Amino acid sequence: MKFAVDLLTAGRYLWRKLPPNRAIFTQRKHGFQNAGQQSLSFRRFSTSNRHFGSEKVAILFDLFKDNQGTVPVDVFLQDLQSTGFKKSDPRFKKMIDNLHSLSRELGETSIDRLTLNEEQFEKVIKDSVIIISQALQNSDIVIPDFPEFCKYVENFYFKCKANTSGKPAEYIPQLAKVNPEYWGVSLCTVDGQRFSIGDTKVPFTIQSTGKPINYAIALSELGSEVVHKYVGQEPSGRMFNELVLDQYNKPHNPMVNAGAIVICSLLINLIEPNLAVSEKFEWVCNYYKRMSGSEYLGFNNATFLSEKEAADRNYAIAYYLKEYKCFPKNAVLKDTMDFYFQLCSLEVNCETVSSIAATLANGGICPLTNNQVITSSSVRDVLSLMHSCGMYDFSGQFAFNVGLPTKSGVSGSLMVVIPNVMGICCWSPNLDMYGNSVRGVQFCEELVSVFNFHQYDNLRHSPHKTDPRKRKATAKASEMSSVLFAATNGDIKEIRRFYLSGMNMNRKDYDGRTVLHIAASEGHLNVVCFLVNVCKVDKTIKDRWNNTALDNALQFGHQDVVDFLSSN
Ligand code: GLU
Repeated sequence: MKFAVDLLTAGRYLWRKLPPNRAIFTQRKHGFQNAGQQSLSFRRFSTSNRHFGSEKVAILFDLFKDNQGTVPVDVFLQDLQSTGFKKSDPRFKKMIDNLHSLSRELGETSIDRLTLNEEQFEKVIKDSVIIISQALQNSDIVIPDFPEFCKYVENFYFKCKANTSGKPAEYIPQLAKVNPEYWGVSLCTVDGQRFSIGDTKVPFTIQSTGKPINYAIALSELGSEVVHKYVGQEPSGRMFNELVLDQYNKPHNPMVNAGAIVICSLLINLIEPNLAVSEKFEWVCNYYKRMSGSEYLGFNNATFLSEKEAADRNYAIAYYLKEYKCFPKNAVLKDTMDFYFQLCSLEVNCETVSSIAATLANGGICPLTNNQVITSSSVRDVLSLMHSCGMYDFSGQFAFNVGLPTKSGVSGSLMVVIPNVMGICCWSPNLDMYGNSVRGVQFCEELVSVFNFHQYDNLRHSPHKTDPRKRKATAKASEMSSVLFAATNGDIKEIRRFYLSGMNMNRKDYDGRTVLHIAASEGHLNVVCFLVNVCKVDKTIKDRWNNTALDNALQFGHQDVVDFLSSN
């Protein structure tokens, strides 16, 4: 399916080149389909004055229809999901709602059992046609070979699962009693391709993984200048919960407790100060929701109460901050602290955090809704500080080894951002001596050992690493169509260039036709001579209709080519 749309384009000229009375057949899961129809639909695409969206719908319909002339919904949805897009993606909501109402109308028990005629198909997909085309063409998608990428992720996941070292945090019962075996990884790309493995739906409290999110909200609402009047941008080089300020008597950064507590006071007092704290809590939750594209968000009251109970150090920090006038005017210490504990006690799962991370990877636009939730300059600031300060006292080593902006929390989660590519959440409660999830850190190390995701990996010359952003398959397919084009046009210079670049000149297209077949059909003797004499191509290769290049030259009456091929 991946190349279907490319094939459609290539089909425009290849169709012309077919021997007369031969039909091209493309096999699909539900039988055979006459590709002549694709060509027809292409004609419809280029000549009619139908609305652009309707034309796309017509092409999609032709691509998916089976030999009964209807589109089986299960096949259509499976192909769509194989590119990493989920049925639950908010961008498909209208389409799925349409399918449900149609299945109710037709008395069908499940949408997967529906088969759609063209009119029904158009009605169902018309509001989602852009995202569907993007998914199926997959040429504009950040990880083109998504299933292949996910296989690696799965492999890393199981490698890390074997690592049972570390132990969960013990300072409050809600964290101490969590099952240490939990292990989940979710990812969401900037195009909204998603993959999850393990315990990715199990809720956990966000704890310090929420600090960059709260900082992002404050930045986006107040701007960097205002926020950084109250909090610095330097790694502290000290414990995350230490009672220490920088040389200007400000908390070092928003990722340590002192800085995060100050951020809470800014959220309460400087943004819509008339809102009651209860309303401000809802207001912040709404931000989280929008950043995650409405993934799961809850609140764990037991954790909140425990956090308050076990908060001597945090209160000490708060009084220290108060003494040094670190809070804005009107800040009420108790409200600020409660708010801080509440935000630590927000409940999320791996899918929530990965989609928030994807919003950060995508310049503040949630990939699942296309809404700009955080300003892009704020995202840049957040990522910079996640990179230098996000992993407690391990931040320097992590930035060195992994090179990805990441924030961890005491419940065992890691929010990892690969800017312009994807967001990842790893969650496993066993922590190392720094307070970071053991499996989470290992997963990141595995990831950058295979892929060139480290901030300072070179994108063009990393011979030992893979770039999953590259369109290997598409590049190959378009190389093939280019060389066939060159053969059609008798463009010997282009053919020479492909030969010099090391291309296998015996490569066949979908119908088993080689460059030589095309050049012979068109009667380009100079190209045929070059292919035979210089490239030493195999003249005996037969296409799917059992024809050699010589047969084609005969069929199309190119006597000079016939003479050359028969005598050489
Ligand atoms: N609630 C914890 C505290 O403030 C957060 C710890 C963390 O995740 O780093 O101490």
